[in-house]
Amino acid sequence: MSIRLFSRTGFNGDSHTVTSDISDLRNTPVGTSTSSLRFTENDDRALFYTEPNWRGQVMFRDGITDISNTGKTARGGKSGFNNNICSVRITPFEFRVNYIVVIDDRDLPGSHNEDHTGLGGVLSLLQQVGDAHEVVQGILRPYLLDAVRLPTLSTFDSRVYFDLTHGAGTSRELGTMLGDADFPWRYDAFNVVLVNSLTNSVGTNSTLLGNRNLGAAIVEVRPDDELFGMGRTIAHEMVHALGIRNHGANNDPSLLMTQTGNVTGPLTDAVNLTDGQAETIHETLVQAESMVPANAIRVE
Ligand SMILES: [Zn+2]
Repeated sequence: MSIRLFSRTGFNGDSHTVTSDISDLRNTPVGTSTSSLRFTENDDRALFYTEPNWRGQVMFRDGITDISNTGKTARGGKSGFNNNICSVRITPFEFRVNYIVVIDDRDLPGSHNEDHTGLGGVLSLLQQVGDAHEVVQGILRPYLLDAVRLPTLSTFDSRVYFDLTHGAGTSRELGTMLGDADFPWRYDAFNVVLVNSLTNSVGTNSTLLGNRNLGAAIVEVRPDDELFGMGRTIAHEMVHALGIRNHGANNDPSLLMTQTGNVTGPLTDAVNLTDGQAETIHETLVQAESMVPANAIRVE
């Protein structure tokens, strides 16, 4: 691994090689004057922050690359990052993920229950969640996002059904469940709520609850889903809820945020995030962390 910082543009001036996370660049020869960067290995990847301790605005870069001016997009940089990088991160940030499988003992649409999936289906789904999460981890880790699943897998016997005809419905139904003392929501984790179907909705949906400190994604999965596809869908919905509201270049077969119906090649290839998307996700996590420090979603 070799990531080198230079205090002048064009790889000039004082330099410093990044060998570990640096929470405050003022302790290095380049100080806060980084003006160019050089990545020499394919697996080099780093997050650069405008404030110490990995806070503020974020620039993510990976792969072999020469950034001759950190403040200029045309030179590989990003506006606001010339003479303004204060910390660097090369190890992933962990954030916890709490899975909740919604079941019900009646025949409400939108829940996993024996009528829809059979008892065996519910049980096999619970087993699949662990494997699907490994897919999620594999997709997010190249962006220095380490999604750690909480050891407990909760089920919730729904008293409401999901009607996600529009975004407001998403929040309303989830809000109803949040009012239930038994709902196994975690405030110190990102919550993924798995339902059998989203009534009147196409595919999947997700939400970021503005008045809650952490995000949540509601994801439609079924026991007969192909495992990689299930994991990719969960990762896609999580990324929505972590700040990427739109689908971007929705016909790029290499991107995670391309909708499944638009992926022309193998689904396993459609897993990349753009640098900008990775940056937005990390900025969302910084915000979540600063809102409720005691329950930080982002942990070291
Ligand atoms: Zn989507």
